[in-house]
Amino acid sequence: MDERVKVRERGQVLPLVTLVIVVAGLVCLAAGRLGGAAVARAQAATAADAAALAGAAAGRNAAVEVARANGGTVTGYREVGAEARVEVELGRATATARARAAGGGGGGGDGPAPAMRAALSRVAQLLGRNVPVVAPPPGTAQPGDAGARHERGLAVDVPATFVAALAPVASGAGLCQPYPTVHPVHFEVCGYRLP
Ligand SMILES: [Zn+2]
Repeated sequence: MDERVKVRERGQVLPLVTLVIVVAGLVCLAAGRLGGAAVARAQAATAADAAALAGAAAGRNAAVEVARANGGTVTGYREVGAEARVEVELGRATATARARAAGGGGGGGDGPAPAMRAALSRVAQLLGRNVPVVAPPPGTAQPGDAGARHERGLAVDVPATFVAALAPVASGAGLCQPYPTVHPVHFEVCGYRLP
């Protein structure tokens, strides 16, 4: 009789284990999907930021091109004065961003200086694709004189995902990466002394 009870109990363990495995699997699936959505949102935001900057500097086509270089599609574009307002769709995520053209409508915004524009177009030639440029998050501490170089359009920050592609060709295009550990997304025109 004791034996029979044990057998019956053992028989109940298997469905329980199966249930636990199924539940754990579902939890993992849900977590993965949430994580994927967060990544997609972040990528869409990056693409929208870069597209808005490009749009403000060079118009709608530039915004479309930069969004595409970042894996996104421009689903909305509007220019209001010197400001470009862009909506970008990437995967299932959408993001909006706005940026102002340099010198347009009483300051605010800073486009790349001619030396930087030249370096960026050299990189674009070397890589066969445009360089996505993102605005440094406001309030971010920039090491050394990095902030001053950003203000003068002599430094750009790129999406973190783009660093691996840019770093090998940067010096050939006249771009330096002076803070590879503390601010690795930051590239500036090599050898330019601030006044
Ligand atoms: Zn920077």
